[in-house]
Amino acid sequence: MSSFLSLDEARLVLSAMPDPVFILTRSGRYGAVYGGTDERYYHDGSSLVGMRISDVIKEGKAQWFLEQIEAALGDRRLHINEYTLSGSDVKGLNDAGPSELIWFEGRVQALTFLVDGEEAVLWVASNITARKELESRLRALSETDPLTGLFNRRRLLHALEVQRHHLTRYGRPAVVLIFDIDHFKRINDELGHQAGDDALIKVADVCRSTLRVTDVVARIGGDEFVVLMPETSMVQAEPIAHRLRQTLVEQLHKMLGPRLASVVDATVSGGFSELQADDLRAEDVFARADAALYEAKRGGRNRVLPYVSSRG
Ligand code: GH3
Ligand code: MG
Repeated sequence: MSSFLSLDEARLVLSAMPDPVFILTRSGRYGAVYGGTDERYYHDGSSLVGMRISDVIKEGKAQWFLEQIEAALGDRRLHINEYTLSGSDVKGLNDAGPSELIWFEGRVQALTFLVDGEEAVLWVASNITARKELESRLRALSETDPLTGLFNRRRLLHALEVQRHHLTRYGRPAVVLIFDIDHFKRINDELGHQAGDDALIKVADVCRSTLRVTDVVARIGGDEFVVLMPETSMVQAEPIAHRLRQTLVEQLHKMLGPRLASVVDATVSGGFSELQADDLRAEDVFARADAALYEAKRGGRNRVLPYVSSRG
């Protein structure tokens, strides 16, 4: 009894592969298509044989496929890539199969023989959509404050690093504003924890509706928020910071009603500072804005102050 498969049996094995296997020539022709039997993830690709990638996939993406094939033929090593395909990218497939945006991992290996007189690669396509979706959900979770939906400290620090790069490399300014609800503890103590949570959510809503979409807003602690304003100088930041404080106080008062607002003193203090080229870490600007916030608290709260270097 031989342990070798006949050629026909080897073909049947290929055809039974759950992931599709494409033989693609350098010029972008489908030499053969095997497998792809997992109908949860794949269309039947047998009709592709003899066609060109550009016959079935729209131009920009078809060009990308050709480049991947070229690269795999270039060094003849295994190339691994990731790409998306949606129903609108692909023409000429039958309708039995998924139609939404699908993520694939392609594993591309040069073959050692010619196909129709051309060099060719083996391209195994695996549907990795579930993994991609999980990755993006986890990323969102790891970057988001669950109560307010704002970014958290981790994501803010990342954005600050990016801005620091923009400053040192391209001289683009940015300002960091840090603000904090005055006597927030009283809102919790006098009106209950839920009222405290509602106030925090209100602050987030006001930030979202009044700031620019390019501004990064984060909640970094209990009642502490940070706004990173890219492409903004101290002179430009000043009126923005004052207007934001004013709107926050108005909206908190409106939410609590004038009587409760006066009981708990629903005001806001803030400090802001410009990112500087010699900031070694993103946290350095943070420390200056925090120092200005401290001055605002010390000066009687309900105000926003710029960082001044000569200060104490
Ligand atoms: P200051 O004017 O100096 O800022 O005083 P403050 O009371 O605002 O500051 P303090 O740091 O003393 O109190 C912050 C409070 O925020 C204490 C904490 O219990 C509360 N807190 C922290 N996280 C949450 C939250 O997610 N929800 C609610 N409701 N309260 C929170
Ligand atoms: Mg506070």
